[in-house]
Parts: sequence; structure tokens; C-alpha cells
Amino acid sequence: MINETALSRFLRYARIDTQSKDEADEYPSTKKQYDLLNLLLRELRELGIADADIDKHGYVMATVPSNLPPGHPAAGKVPKIGFIAHVDTSPSASGTGVNPQVLTYRGGDIVLPGDNSVVILEDENPELARNLNQEIVTGDGTTLLGADDKAGIAIIMTLAQTLVNSPGIPHGDIRIAFTPDEEVGNGTKYFDIKAFGADFAYTIDGDTPGELNKETFSADGATITVHGRNIHPGSAKDIMVNSIRALADIIARLPRAMAPETTEGYEPYIHPHIIEGEEAKSTLRLLLRDFKTDGLAKQAEMLRAIIAEVQPFHPKARIELKISESYRNMRYWLDKDQRGLHAMEEATRRAGLEPKWVPIRGGTDGSRLTERGLPCPNIFTGGQNYHGPTEWLSVDGMNSSVRTVVHLAQVWVELCSQ
Ligand SMILES: [Zn+2]
Repeated sequence: MINETALSRFLRYARIDTQSKDEADEYPSTKKQYDLLNLLLRELRELGIADADIDKHGYVMATVPSNLPPGHPAAGKVPKIGFIAHVDTSPSASGTGVNPQVLTYRGGDIVLPGDNSVVILEDENPELARNLNQEIVTGDGTTLLGADDKAGIAIIMTLAQTLVNSPGIPHGDIRIAFTPDEEVGNGTKYFDIKAFGADFAYTIDGDTPGELNKETFSADGATITVHGRNIHPGSAKDIMVNSIRALADIIARLPRAMAPETTEGYEPYIHPHIIEGEEAKSTLRLLLRDFKTDGLAKQAEMLRAIIAEVQPFHPKARIELKISESYRNMRYWLDKDQRGLHAMEEATRRAGLEPKWVPIRGGTDGSRLTERGLPCPNIFTGGQNYHGPTEWLSVDGMNSSVRTVVHLAQVWVELCSQ
């Protein structure tokens, strides 16, 4: 019988370099993600999970089959529940040579041993206080840790191990998926929802213990293109139309109180994030974000009004606005069937934590899957400070997440036994 702790699994997975890459021509974006995907496939099979498989895009899927006897009141009624985590780590910090440090937190700041300038500050990390005299895991300061999302993977593998080893825990069919390329926005690109076959799923990709997510932004992208006219500056009088000046006038009018750097919680934002151009043509790309989807239409209207205001100052410039849909708040779908949300709340309580719903100021793989028909809220892992060298993981938080998902499998059976 394989009986490994979540921590021991996490430490093994964290050492494997699985960094993904933006704008790659192949999928997954980096071959090294297969090092972990193939390892997980082997380990699932070693647990006795016969149908564990990897598809041609690198998605690993497996089933822990229902152990409900035929006469059980939930047999044939309990939905297939899925658990999903991503193997890749963010391109924004190195994932090569990750050297996890397990330490007992004794208070104060934590100076990381591989680079003394990298410090986990007590006053920036309120979660540290909850881990006083407990084990936490950090990197050595030269790389990220990769708790995002190898903690999620360790949690799901420990769930599978627990269910396989404990026939006394009643559960329906549990589906497991490990995905590549989440950090570069492509985690669900080739995710085969039909092959996965779950009726309801959870990503294990959150952070603070007890925090659950059923809401993400609704998101659009906007592109403003200004067409001007270029000519040698020496003979430009009354001929040159400098697109840069027109675009600068537009940027100056974007509401400062509606920027990511000035907003939080449920507040929406408009965020100019890429600019390129010269006299003849300049382009600005913006992110439009609001928890209410109809707020996005208002933001587009706001951009149109700004363009209309700026246009008279640059009568010969041609200004175009293009809006493209990115993703939608998963709450619109999740609210229709509350069972999955209720079950995760109840499971978190049984794991000894007070559940707290927190909106995600971004999108998740779950928001994309939910929109495509697989309801998929998100559960905490115990990690903090993702995508940088001060990332750290609460071992107690990770173990609480394991308890939560084990309870979750049972709560679903109870819900369907009534
Ligand atoms: Zn993640």
C-alpha cells in the first residue's frame, strides 16, 4: 500500500522543472512539462488506478471508481466529481533547480538562504502568523517554489491515495485531471470535457486556507488603433498626423480611479497594458474587467466616448476600437446549481476551517471550463505569493485542503442519499 504524505509528494513534484512558455508554437509550450505529467501517470497506475492515461496534448486523466454498493441510496445518483490541477509553473520566475526548504516558522521575517536579498516579510504576509511554530515550505530565494500548482497536484494525488486505501470512505466516481500550460492561458485549450466526463469539478489552485472561489472577473480585451500619416519632420507642417499624440490623449483620459493599481475586491478596472507605435500607426491594448458582464459594455462605451472626445483634436487621424471577448464570470453558471458550492462549503467546515468566498480578480481554468459546460469552482491549497521567489506554502493549509477534498467526495454521496 502506498502511503505518502502530501508534503513528501509536494517536495518531489516541486523539484521538477515544469515552467511553461508564452507564445510557443507547440503544445504543451515546453516539453519538460511531460517530466511531471508522465510521472503522475505512473504514480496513478501504481496506486492501482487502471484507466489512468495521457492524451496527445499531455492531459493526464484518471478515475477512482465509485465504491458504493448496488443497494446504496446514492448508487447511480451521485454525479461524477472531478478534481483538476495544473503541472506548469509561471514564466515570470525561474523554475530550474527549485530547492524547497521545510522549516518551522518561529516568527519574524524569513531570509531565504540562496539569496539574502529575498525576504518573506512578516508584515506583508498576515498568513505567517497562523503558521507560528508550524511547518512551512519556501524556495531558496533563487526560484519560485511552485506551490502554484504543485500543492494542488499533491493534494489530488493524496486524495486518490486516501480513497484507494480507505474502502470505508464512501464516494462516487472521482475523476482526476492534470493539465499543462495554465500559466500561459492555455490550460483548457485542448481539455476534452467529454472525455473527462465529470458532471461537476473543482480546480485545486487557490491559496489561503478556507478560501473558496466561485466568482471570477468577466473579461474582454480592447484594442485602440490610431492611423496617422508620416512624413519627414523637416517638411511636416500641416501634413504629418502623429498617431502617438492622439493615442497619448486617449491614455490621459482613462479613468485613474478605475485602474488595477487603484482598485480591489469587486471593483472593476480598465487597464492599458501594451502600447506600440510610430507616427503612422499606434496601437494600445487594454484589459476590461468587471464581475458583472454588462459592466464590460459600459467600459466599451466609456472608451468610445473618450475616442469621440479626442477625435476633434486630431481631425485627420483615424481611430479604431476593437473589442474581443476573453472569459466570463463563472458565477453566472454556478448559481444555477448550488449543490456543488454547498458541498464545498460543508467539506471545508468538516476539515475544521470556516469557508470564505473570495472573488478572483482574474480568470481561472475553472471559469473557462464552467463557460464550456463543466461547472468548476476553485479550492485553496495553502500556498502564498505566487509567481515569485518569495512564494511559500503552509503545510497545515495543504493538509487542510486534503481533508476538504476527501470530505467533499463523501458530502456529495450524502447529498445524493436523501
Ligand atoms: Zn495556478
